[in-house]
Amino acid sequence: MSVVSTDLLRRFDLNGPRYTSYPTADRFVEAFTAAEYIQSLEQRQTVAAAMALPLSLYVHIPFCESLCYYCACNKIVTKHHDKATAYLRYLSREVDLHMAHLGTGQTVSQLHLGGGTPTFLSDDELRGLMSMLRRSFNLVPGGEYAIEVDPRTVDAGRLALLAELGFNRLSFGVQDFDPAVQKAVHRVQPAEQVFALMETARQQGFESINVDLIYGLPLQTPESFDRTLAQVALLKPDRVALYAYAHLPERFKPQRRIVPAELPSGSAKIAMLSRSLAAFEAAGYVYVGMDHFALPSDALAIAKRQGRLHRNFQGYSTQPDCDLIALGVSAIGRVGATYSQNAKTIEEYYDHLDQGRLPVVRGLAVSRDDLVRRAVIMALMCQGVLQYESIELAFLIDFRSYFARELEDLQELVGQGLVVVNGQGIEVTAQGWFFVRAVAMVFDRYLQADRNRTRFSKII
Ligand code: SF4
Repeated sequence: MSVVSTDLLRRFDLNGPRYTSYPTADRFVEAFTAAEYIQSLEQRQTVAAAMALPLSLYVHIPFCESLCYYCACNKIVTKHHDKATAYLRYLSREVDLHMAHLGTGQTVSQLHLGGGTPTFLSDDELRGLMSMLRRSFNLVPGGEYAIEVDPRTVDAGRLALLAELGFNRLSFGVQDFDPAVQKAVHRVQPAEQVFALMETARQQGFESINVDLIYGLPLQTPESFDRTLAQVALLKPDRVALYAYAHLPERFKPQRRIVPAELPSGSAKIAMLSRSLAAFEAAGYVYVGMDHFALPSDALAIAKRQGRLHRNFQGYSTQPDCDLIALGVSAIGRVGATYSQNAKTIEEYYDHLDQGRLPVVRGLAVSRDDLVRRAVIMALMCQGVLQYESIELAFLIDFRSYFARELEDLQELVGQGLVVVNGQGIEVTAQGWFFVRAVAMVFDRYLQADRNRTRFSKII
């Protein structure tokens, strides 16, 4: 029995922003320049309260040895490992440029190495990267230090190295255990290998291990995915992220290698999602929100119970909002009231650094309205509760008149039992947590503007 009706899943399991930021990255503009980013870095140094908070770091390693056909990430597929040597040199330059504006030795309590495939780097390169970061930043004990791991690129020795370098969180890309599905998406990794790595990682004391799954891949059926879910229940990672595959071959070239006839139907996808929700509940997982599940003992589940969840570019987090310095090609950061993104191609990224410039090519200076809406969206997505008064006091607005239209739009979700709206605020119901993205979308001014434009163009 599913924990959510398939009718609701069909209606509200919408494609839409994941709200790892608000405004979302597709709203960034090229008018935002490196000069504005530098200004926000320097401003940070003048505000004692900002300086007292630790930083978060994201480092993007874009290389992958082989191409997964479902991939929608910014990556470079290559067998030439020497490319990483040059890349790390440029990363080091980017860090040096930051030091000039940020100061050396800033406290960091969160680090995420993502990609691409961070474990494309050799042991020596990983060592070099971490000591370069430690020379510039102060990575404090007890922080969250995470790395995305492609199980095909590590063994027990490499996991031991990651632990030695200070990583305490791992995220394994699994997607599906079915060999036929793995073959269809060109990512073959035997289940035994993942089980063995999981056991080793546990022995080595990693605090939290996440597994990524994808439903909607070619050759998947609800029955075949049930078998993967059963294996995941045996594997018992601390966290599971379950993503829907969106087939957009016009946008993501690798997806053109996927045979459309092999893709599951919409109703099969809904069945997989519905059965996944039931399977994770039966296996003892808590639904954290937005595709994330965690064991009750995991820090994320505890933070959810205690109303201490936060959200950043890596998804849900237990760490309070802090400035995020993003390093590497295409990386997205957040400092003060700005978002910034680095050049998306490696050539452009290198070119900026060759000229001694930070490689920021787009971003956004967040407006007051953006800040109000961000506070609303994050409260709903992280706590599931919003008190009008807290927003009114923080931003000196009258919530009900400022958001009159949104409160009207929420009525449909009220009717479906997904939220409760009363005189004091808005509360996401237990069912509503599964569709919290739809609740957040009501408060997204940019989406509303898009809808108005569509309506307007339809009228004329
Ligand atoms: S899915 Fe991950 S490992 Fe596969 S090609 Fe994309 S970035 Fe590389």
